[in-house]
Amino acid sequence: MKKLIAGNWKMNMAAGTAGSLIWEIESKIQANEGILDRCDFVVCPPFLYLDTVKSKCKAAFLGAQDCSEKANGAFTGDISAAMLKDVGAKYVILGHSERRQYHGEGDDLVALKAQAANGQGLITIICVGETESERERGQQNEIVSRQLEHSIPPGANAENTVIAYEPVWAIGTGKTATADDIRDMHAFIRGRLSEKFSDGAQMRVLYGGSVKPSNAAEIFGVPNVDGALIGGASLKADDYMGIALAVA
Ligand code: PEP
Repeated sequence: MKKLIAGNWKMNMAAGTAGSLIWEIESKIQANEGILDRCDFVVCPPFLYLDTVKSKCKAAFLGAQDCSEKANGAFTGDISAAMLKDVGAKYVILGHSERRQYHGEGDDLVALKAQAANGQGLITIICVGETESERERGQQNEIVSRQLEHSIPPGANAENTVIAYEPVWAIGTGKTATADDIRDMHAFIRGRLSEKFSDGAQMRVLYGGSVKPSNAAEIFGVPNVDGALIGGASLKADDYMGIALAVA
């Protein structure tokens, strides 16, 4: 299975910098012959820059960072899955811990959003992961298991759904989970997915949390790690591609 290298640009940049970043990424993909045999790339800019970035995407797929669970109507400020499809998005990140934390999004809402996204033919990247205090209490499996049970909608399969394990304490902190922690959690997630879905063994499971070029090779070497969801390091073309080049 090719590794999925997903960049979450969050609420950063302006139209000009978003345009130059995708341009640089595309140039680097072109310059590294064979990389597309090993990796799929997806970039997730802010909503406002989807169109700009799409116009420069050649090899990379376009993704968004969220979508509404509603189809259309009087929902001020929201963006529907159909609108994302309309601008050429193929992926959408859902249930990111920042959405769960700052917008109070719970598992049931994430599942509804994912259902709406899948209904438009989008591939969801559904994020799960425990907080630092939950890990200190040894509750990580229980938390992730609950998130997997309730955030993934009916009809999900390996074609339309990607899971991202992102321990909240490792996001944007520079702290990365150890290879042993990642191995244990990804094996646990794989087990739950295989129980729940007939093609759960094929569903991609990404790791996210302070992935950078210097730790990517070790992380990609862990069984059941099918790629990375990258925040900070995805904002620099050199770092983003450095991570992809760590795929053996
Ligand atoms: C993220 O926000 O999904 C993320 C993994 O961020 P960072 O790589 O900066 O830790």
